Amino acid sequence: MADKIRVTVWNEYRHEKSDEEVARIYPEGIHGAIMAFLNREADIEARGATLDEPEHGLTEEVLVSTDVLIWWGHMAHAEVQDAIVDRVQQRILEGMGLIVLHSGHFSKIFRRMMGTNCSLRWREIGERERVWITLPGHPIAEGLGEYFEVPHTEMYGEYFDIPQPDELVFISWYQGGEVFRSGCAYHRGKGKVFYFAPGHETLPIYHQSEVQRVILNAVRWAKPVKGPYSHTRDANRVDPLEEVVIDA
Ligand code: ZN
Repeated sequence: MADKIRVTVWNEYRHEKSDEEVARIYPEGIHGAIMAFLNREADIEARGATLDEPEHGLTEEVLVSTDVLIWWGHMAHAEVQDAIVDRVQQRILEGMGLIVLHSGHFSKIFRRMMGTNCSLRWREIGERERVWITLPGHPIAEGLGEYFEVPHTEMYGEYFDIPQPDELVFISWYQGGEVFRSGCAYHRGKGKVFYFAPGHETLPIYHQSEVQRVILNAVRWAKPVKGPYSHTRDANRVDPLEEVVIDA
């Protein structure tokens, strides 16, 4: 079969070490839970990377061999070095996919790719979330119904300070009355970026089959396309394709 999609699941990996409840739900870490269901797929090969590793586990070697990077962070966004953010951004512009989950909305890399503050309203009371599919023909909606529910979630509400998505795949409704653009797809350079809201650390949301399906679909959608791309000034200085006669 074709080459596997090489996924790196990046996790801040702090809540799991400091909060017993989080460690109970995600004994192998949130990245471990995500890697486990990705690695059950024949066309995907996932590995983990975490904040406290050298270079946050995102060395040049790792990024060059990553087709899709998944990002989960919350309490330590500020500890991510700007030089690593620069490196990840360049790889995305060159074609690597980026999937940003839940509280990653405030990560340096997501804000860099969006160019806005990425702020939102929030409330943590464990209410129900109904995720509506707003673009049923999109690859990330593959295999889902008209909607699915997350029984207990953290509310993320509008206004979400992001650029208008290129493709809005999901809108969530919450019991408390808010709505939220919870599945947002973008093209940046040659790369693709997808933001997906569900996934609070004290709730078993990444164990839910529909949520896993969304992340799997997003990985397959975000993998690089081997099309043309150049961003260097010298390579982009081109001769005309046809003979051009300039009138005197
Ligand atoms: Zn949260």
